[in-house]
Amino acid sequence: MNTTLSLHHLFQNNEIDNLKQLIEDLDKIFDNIPVTSSDLIKTTLLDIETIKQLKNKPNNVHVVFGKSLRTLHCTIIDDNAREHKLCVEKQPSTKKLKVVSVNLPFTSFQEQEYNNIEDLTNEFLLTINNLSSYLYELETIDHNCIVVEPKNPTFKDDFRNLYLDDRTWLHIEVTPDGSASNVHLIGQSNKWQDKLQKGILKWDHDKNIVENILIIFDLNNLIDIKSTKDLSAENTAFLEDDCSENITCSICFCTELPDNPGLPQPLCNNPSCDVNYHKSCLFQWLIACEGGRPPAFGVINGSCPTCLHPITCSENE
Ligand SMILES: [Zn+2]
Ligand SMILES: [Zn+2]
Repeated sequence: MNTTLSLHHLFQNNEIDNLKQLIEDLDKIFDNIPVTSSDLIKTTLLDIETIKQLKNKPNNVHVVFGKSLRTLHCTIIDDNAREHKLCVEKQPSTKKLKVVSVNLPFTSFQEQEYNNIEDLTNEFLLTINNLSSYLYELETIDHNCIVVEPKNPTFKDDFRNLYLDDRTWLHIEVTPDGSASNVHLIGQSNKWQDKLQKGILKWDHDKNIVENILIIFDLNNLIDIKSTKDLSAENTAFLEDDCSENITCSICFCTELPDNPGLPQPLCNNPSCDVNYHKSCLFQWLIACEGGRPPAFGVINGSCPTCLHPITCSENE
């Protein structure tokens, strides 16, 4: 056999499973490759065990190596054909897999270590199964409502701020079992507030969250809510695309603050006051107006910087 054929044979042959073996075989072909350094090359990053696991991984998992070969980016597909992306890292000491990031909130899933990709996948699917109502409710909200915040909502975000009108958003949190909690208005107008107060008492747990919102506010749907208001038809598509893009804070004139996630909100209760503020900006402003004294219970009263209407701002939700 000539050299080319031998090399071809060598690389077609799947039996080589380590670097030392490969170099020894190459050495036989070329006759004089020094093998002395092979022991120094440690394959701790990419080991045979990981390669074997990847070969035998379940069909519903796709794996891509990250920049360091220790990091694996997995896409797991659940029974409802949803794609979940997670990043895992192989621990050098234990050889186990640890979850670095996953698109889920509140789970113990990410605190454990897993022996292999299959174990990890099975445990993840179990977690997903337990959160099925949570995932379903968020999906239904995202499909049927105009979500102002978070900007690009994922399953990791357990809340949604929904557009009701230019001055009013509805805040909803979703619990792990798929119930709505902490439902309240941001930038309240009397019209929406009255409906919410009366409607929330009749919350029907057999219906999903979106259906309940529609009943409470006496609406047919929550997507066309913008076009039924005061907008001409040609503007609607544009506004639906980036209804959160143009909201700026009337104190700092920015949309997003680097250290404080969250968009400016319609915080003034005066229906004719057409401005939005970051909660943190308004809070700082009102403290400054009070001579720099922080409020006793995290809630500060003052007047709106724009219209001077009485305004209240709390440090937290
Ligand atoms: Zn601001
Ligand atoms: Zn105002």
